[in-house]
Amino acid sequence: MVLPSVAPQGQRGGFVVFLKARVTWTRAAAGLLLSTAAIAHAQHHGASEGVGFSGGRAYEYARDFVAIGPRWPTSPGHLKAEAFLREHFRHDQVEEDTFTADTPIGPVAMRNFIVRYPGKRDGVIVLASHYETNYWLRNINFVGANDGGATTGLLMALADKFRAETAGGRKLDGYSVWLVFFDGEEAIRSWSESDSTYGSRHLAAKWGRDGTLGHIKAFILTDMIGDRDLDIQRETQSTAWLVDLVREAAKKHHDEQYFFQTEESVEDDHLAFVRRGVPSIDLIDLDYGPNNSYHHTAQDTLDKISARSLQIDGDVILETIRLINQR
Ligand SMILES: [Zn+2]
Repeated sequence: MVLPSVAPQGQRGGFVVFLKARVTWTRAAAGLLLSTAAIAHAQHHGASEGVGFSGGRAYEYARDFVAIGPRWPTSPGHLKAEAFLREHFRHDQVEEDTFTADTPIGPVAMRNFIVRYPGKRDGVIVLASHYETNYWLRNINFVGANDGGATTGLLMALADKFRAETAGGRKLDGYSVWLVFFDGEEAIRSWSESDSTYGSRHLAAKWGRDGTLGHIKAFILTDMIGDRDLDIQRETQSTAWLVDLVREAAKKHHDEQYFFQTEESVEDDHLAFVRRGVPSIDLIDLDYGPNNSYHHTAQDTLDKISARSLQIDGDVILETIRLINQR
């Protein structure tokens, strides 16, 4: 990520503090009292989900991916990250979308990964994340555990489910699901429209030219939502009906307190799709650590993310997919 636009900083900060206090209380109550709600919640996020999605696996995948270390464009770590994804999805239908980005440091080779799981219905749901870290943070040990790492693990664990459901040539019950791992989301030098979101701008343009965009029913972007202290903002440029479906899905899982308690406009990889008329949502938690102090700092480490947050994300995304298929 990403810079929030619009909202006055002081006002927004104060509002968030209030809400976070409330969330903290809820967690303390659930943990200490082991209330009925807590038990119900544990069941919702535990084994009762069955063949579904494992937040624990998502966390393990994120851990393994983050262990590569910094992975900024042009670095050896970036090549390792690419090799990691290539190896992990070697038995899946993977497309490597390579391109050369025109950046402030000159042309940079970049690579998006697209993994496809076919569905019975005509149309596609895209789940996306970015996987690289910031070039401009190359002189600190910035591993982006939450920023790029957690959501890469999240998509990998969701893939486990789609892979199982499409084994032996079978198809998903609804629309096809495509996972996209974007390169070059972060600015090379300093965030601007031309120095950011290289991978998504490239792919949206390409899919606009070849007609693919017309088949996309929903584009769901995930960014920084491994945060242990999960509070996903309602991103104001996201498509309203998709926001409503996510809210409904969260409610079904009794997770509504983690979603859309605050709203703000965020520049991210969804915008190239929003601007081309694709129904899109950015699921982002841009409130990371005290006064956002873990964001784009060496403090963005694995201990700041949790399997439980990833479980909430995965459950709600899968329910959202179910609701999109019912529409
Ligand atoms: Zn970032």
